[in-house]
Amino acid sequence: LDIVAAIDVGGTKTRVEVYSEDSDQVEDHQALESVVFPTPRSDGIAAVLAQQITNLTQLAKGTKVKAVGVGAPGPLDPRKGVVLNPPNLPICWHGLPLKDELEKRLEAPVALENDCNLGALGESVFGNGKGRASVLYITVSTGIGAGLVIEGDIFGGARGFAGELGHVKVADGPLCGCGRNGCLEALASGSAIARRAIERGWTVTDGTVTSKAVAEAASQGEAIPKSVLSEAAAHLGDALVSFVYAFDPSVVLLGGGVSQSDLFLELVRESARREPTMPAFEGFEILRAGLGERSVVHGAHELARTMNNIHLDSI
Ligand SMILES: [Zn+2]
Repeated sequence: LDIVAAIDVGGTKTRVEVYSEDSDQVEDHQALESVVFPTPRSDGIAAVLAQQITNLTQLAKGTKVKAVGVGAPGPLDPRKGVVLNPPNLPICWHGLPLKDELEKRLEAPVALENDCNLGALGESVFGNGKGRASVLYITVSTGIGAGLVIEGDIFGGARGFAGELGHVKVADGPLCGCGRNGCLEALASGSAIARRAIERGWTVTDGTVTSKAVAEAASQGEAIPKSVLSEAAAHLGDALVSFVYAFDPSVVLLGGGVSQSDLFLELVRESARREPTMPAFEGFEILRAGLGERSVVHGAHELARTMNNIHLDSI
């Protein structure tokens, strides 16, 4: 049994899955085996990841690992397969030549890609973007990331960095982690929502203020959470209209933890509809991503399965 493996490296946890290479099983996209563990925070990262793949391959009674797809937080260099300096990963990841190190250990080709791009790819092949010519995937969680898939291919830009839509400036707003003021991420991400609620004096009786707590309180009609969530959704809705103007995607899919709130999704749609929109663009679709927290790993699976579908300008 030949195996393809998929890895989703997250800020706190990492998911590894193995699949049969057998095309009959691609349709139901069930992993043969999978594991979730804390993202390595010290040296020896490639050894840990390779060992997990080897373990899962044995569990699945697989013989050979044919290919591995890896999604990790950007910025990263997909051509060289090197993680650059992602703010969401510990310093031991910075500059890590993950592709080379995994290839050496597993003796199989490895492809590394930005996690948001793989989220878009996963959704376009297996999720709510299935059958659509182009998919704009936007993930709203701690930060805001995005990926664009056109006719089955990731749009990576000249160096693989395209799609940083969380850092598009949308207002004269608060300072963003990237150094600019008023980025979409600084106004509509999960951390922005929590911070804004705290600034307005909102508290929870037990635990800390999170975007999830804000969204839940908002859906129960509490005034401060509702206005905070509405403001964030209004910024995102405005921005989505601009993104639709830029890319004219077949569908916009919202993923990430914050988008799991029905109220948030509805408020974003309302905001986008409220914007005066050029008539030709009216009626564009905003849906929730369909694969939940497995969008990225499914993209990594597809990357492993196809191995050469990233289009970058050649130098
Ligand atoms: Zn920014």
